[in-house]
Amino acid sequence: MEDYKLTKIMSTDVFSVEIDTPLIDVTNQMSEQKYSCLLVQQNNKPIGIITERDIVCFLSEALTNNSKSLSNNPPLAADLMSYNLIMLQEDQKILEALVICIANNIRHLPVIDSNGFLTGIVTYTDIANFQRNVMESQAAIIEKNISERTSELVKANHRLKEMTLQDPLLGIGNRRAMEIDIKCTHDLSKRYANDYAIAMIDIDNFKLYNDHYGHQAGDDALQKVTSSIMSSIRKSDRIYRYGGEELLILLPQTEPESAEKLVNRVLSELESEKIPHCKSPFEYVTASCGLAVYNSHLQGQNSEWSYVLESADKALYAAKNTGRNKVAVS
Ligand code: GH3
Ligand code: MG
Ligand code: MG
Repeated sequence: MEDYKLTKIMSTDVFSVEIDTPLIDVTNQMSEQKYSCLLVQQNNKPIGIITERDIVCFLSEALTNNSKSLSNNPPLAADLMSYNLIMLQEDQKILEALVICIANNIRHLPVIDSNGFLTGIVTYTDIANFQRNVMESQAAIIEKNISERTSELVKANHRLKEMTLQDPLLGIGNRRAMEIDIKCTHDLSKRYANDYAIAMIDIDNFKLYNDHYGHQAGDDALQKVTSSIMSSIRKSDRIYRYGGEELLILLPQTEPESAEKLVNRVLSELESEKIPHCKSPFEYVTASCGLAVYNSHLQGQNSEWSYVLESADKALYAAKNTGRNKVAVS
């Protein structure tokens, strides 16, 4: 609001009378035109103002003292106008006008140019309306900014989630991290002619576990299984959450025999944790494993990392179909 000039809201339709205008003409004009006040001018310069209140006060005093004098000596605008006229210059700001109105408890402010000639008038109502409009448009701008910022934050949050590499429940790498690591391990194996293995591990009868013990207990069991596997593998091996109750172990620089040995140990260690599962034929939480080993001598489509992953998945399917709680090798 500070930056707006008075001329933005100033009305140039100013109603005025000359200083020697009879009171009767002043009141007639105010009554016919429904003005609450009139400016009084002399030589085109505002010198006073007559408000409804000025007229009431004048009449009250005149009637109380000597009612005859009103007809004998008809009063003029000069007799009842307020002289201490507060005026504004054209280049003043709306905020200044507001302050002047409030400080002096006035509702009409004539505006003059640099030569003192009347150019317009500003009322307190105009200022208040203008201020309300400014505040409303500022509120709309703030609201728009907030909603833009909120949607930017939502997008940024989404991007962050995509960028994250960790599974929040198990605190291990997620599928994204897994893919990055497998690709990297695969490329190194190819270059240095090493084998590496992928073991896909899926908890057996886990739906029954959830159904019986509840989802929270299911989450706890998942964490215990993860800890058990982590304590069975080597430092150089890595574990990821492939999805749901499926975990994946990446065994870099590992030959088929040692990979098979290691995953068998992982499954038997898990069973020996004896996490109760009364709905499982094994009585405890167990898992099945599909193992696939990459051989650097493979050529063509079979030499892709996705092929190794698919082979582990197929092997897992076989382990499930042949009784669970076991390792199947592709
Ligand atoms: P199978 O031996 O053939 O693997 O049977 P399953 O019951 O383990 O397999 P299924 O695919 O039928 O069910 C998997 C269950 O794992 C169902 C799902 O609710 C549960 N599950 C997956 N992720 C989570 C999780 O984060 N927390 C919990 N509590 N349960 C999960
Ligand atoms: Mg399962
Ligand atoms: Mg599964």
